[in-house]
Parts: sequence; C-alpha cells; structure tokens
Amino acid sequence: MSTILAFAEARDGELRNVSFETISAAKQIDGDAQVVGVVLSDQNTEALADEMIHHGADRALVVEHADLKEYTSDAFTQAAMAVINEEEPDGIVMGHTSAGKDLSPRLASKLDNGLVSDITGIEGSGDDAEFVRPIYSGKAFEKKKLADGLTFVTIRPNNIAPLEKDTNRSGEVSSLDVDIKDIRTVIQEVIRKTSEGVDLSEANIIVAGGRGVKSEEGFQPLYQLADELGAAVGASRGACDAGYCDYSLQIGQTGKVVTPDLYIAVGISGAIQHLAGMSNSKVIVAINKDPEANIFNVADYGIVGDLFDVIPKLTEEIKALKV
Ligand SMILES: Cc1cc2nc3c(=O)[nH]c(=O)nc-3n(C[C@H](O)[C@H](O)[C@H](O)COP(=O)(O)OP(=O)(O)OC[C@H]3O[C@@H](n4cnc5c(N)ncnc54)[C@H](O)[C@@H]3O)c2cc1C
Repeated sequence: MSTILAFAEARDGELRNVSFETISAAKQIDGDAQVVGVVLSDQNTEALADEMIHHGADRALVVEHADLKEYTSDAFTQAAMAVINEEEPDGIVMGHTSAGKDLSPRLASKLDNGLVSDITGIEGSGDDAEFVRPIYSGKAFEKKKLADGLTFVTIRPNNIAPLEKDTNRSGEVSSLDVDIKDIRTVIQEVIRKTSEGVDLSEANIIVAGGRGVKSEEGFQPLYQLADELGAAVGASRGACDAGYCDYSLQIGQTGKVVTPDLYIAVGISGAIQHLAGMSNSKVIVAINKDPEANIFNVADYGIVGDLFDVIPKLTEEIKALKV
C-alpha cells in the first residue's frame, strides 16, 4: 500500500482549512493509499492530529517543538525532512500557502524530486493522476504529470473540497523527536495586519473594494456587508496605493490569489493584474458605475450603479433575509 503525507498547517494551536484539503487531495491521488496527516507545531499537536484523522487521515504523525511556533525555513525544513525520512512516502501534499510556497521547493530540492505547485484539481488517480494548475495569471490551465519519483504537489487553498468531518473516526497518532538546530532566521515579532475574523486566503466569500471606494471611510459599508455575509474584505492595489486600506488586503498578481465561492468586486475596474488574483472565483459579482468597466467581462452578475447606493441596499436586503 502506498503512503501519502498530508501536511497540516497550524497557526496559534489551530489548523487552517487547507490542512483538511490536503487529506482530500491525497485520497483523490490514490484512493487506496494510507494517508498520514503530518502536524508540525509548538503546541496542541495531539488534538490537531485527531482533527486530521476526523477529516479523513488514516493516521497522524506529529513533531512538537518550541522552534515550530512560527514558520521559519530552517526549522520546518528540518522537521519535514525528518518526517519524510521516517515515513519514506510515495506522495506528499501541502498547501500552496506562504509557508507551503517556501517549504515545498526546499524539500523537492533536498529530495531531488519534481514538484507540481499550486494545483486546483486532480484528474485520474494513481499512476495516471494528472494535476491541473492555472497559468498565465489564470487565463489558461495546464495539466501536469510527474514522470518519476514521489508525487509531490501543493494545492491552492479553497479548490479541493475537504472530506466531511467525522469525530467517530480514529487512527494511530505517533510523534517524532527532531533535533532542530542552526536556525538562521529568528522571528522577533508577528504583526497581524489583516482584520479580525475571516482569513482572506481561506474565505468562502470576499467583498473587495477598489479605488472607486474613494477613502478609508468609504470601506466601512463594505465591512458592514462583509459582516452580514460572514465574508473577508479584500482590495485592489489601486485602493491600497491610495492608502484606503492595508496592503495585506491586496488581491492580484502582486497580492494574494484567492478562489472564494463568491467574490464581490466593488468599485474595481478589472485590470489584468487584479484579475490574476481573483478570476478563478466560483461566482463573481461586480458593482461599478461604469458599464464599460472590464470587470464586467469576468463577472457572472453585474450591477451598474453607485456603490454608495448599492452596498447599503444589499446589506439591508441580506439582513432582511436572515430575519
Ligand atoms: C506590475 C504590476 C503589478 C500589479 N499588481 C496588482 C495587483 O496585485 N492587484 C491589483 O489590484 N492591481 C495591481 N496592479 C495595478 C493595476 O494595474 C490597476 O492599476 C489596479 O488594479 C486598479 O485598481 P482599481 O480597479 O481599484 O482602480 P481603478 O482602475 O481606478 O478603478 C476604479 C473603478 O471604480 C469605479 N468607480 C468609481 N466610483 C465609483 C462609485 N461611486 N461606484 C461604483 N464604481 C465606482 C470606476 O468606474 C472604476 O472602474 C499592478 C500593476 C502593475 C504594473
């Protein structure tokens, strides 16, 4: 039986959703494989390992170490390599997140193995598995196959649905002691710039504002709509450059790449660099006063109007639906 490692991603003692998506991807790659959930963290690893099992992992392996509190290339590479050497897997799946983007090529290089990064889908399985990934800023898709070695992929968050949670599932949890040393970078402080609440890269719904929002205060109606929808707020670079919001909210070629179920673009013209970060969203709604705005070319639904009229009305309607 083959073994596939599904790497979890923990933050402050909790798992990010992409952790569960890696298990689902591993099962799609090979339905007969033994999927091992791997948790690298400084705390709470036993409970996190159980969560991985509840989401479909057959068993779990944890490395708990004080140096795994915040992501550093050196510590996580050493921990991950120790796990890989221990398990000698046939496949590895991790999230295409900030940490995954840094860690996966390091591991691939150490293993002298190929890597298919940022995949959004899997076709076929076993030796026939092909990995679908967007190219040219999401304008086209390519299918890739690994011709040799381990099946090593990173998955774009929010594209491969996690398996249903089943708290009755059980599996073995083992731990591995790793001697982590020679860390060349030290995290002094983590300053979280994103607002409280829903994480932009994992959000199912995003309300994003552009330069049309006109000011920092202009973002307030967007936050109110986002609150009603349980959504995260994002932005175009135009809005960030104008100082209306923090760069941590920027979506696009030089910002975050997101694929929520619903993306509401408010006062955003739809420049190619913005589309690169959101055009693979499942449903796109555009609100713009210019009927010729390019964003309408990618939108499933469009509202031509002044956002300061449309957004409060939309928020009221959604509130009313909830009563
Ligand atoms: C190398 C490079 C990388 C880049 N990376 C990114 C990136 O990652 N992300 C990104 O977003 N951009 C990026 N850009 C910038 C990009 O080219 C655009 O300049 C930017 O996306 C424009 O932002 P915007 O749509 O908010 O502003 P604008 O293009 O100014 O559009 C504002 C829109 O608001 C509408 N509007 C105005 N008032 C209202 C109102 N009251 N109600 C409704 N609609 C209204 C207007 O009709 C207009 O369509 C990059 C550019 C370069 C060169």
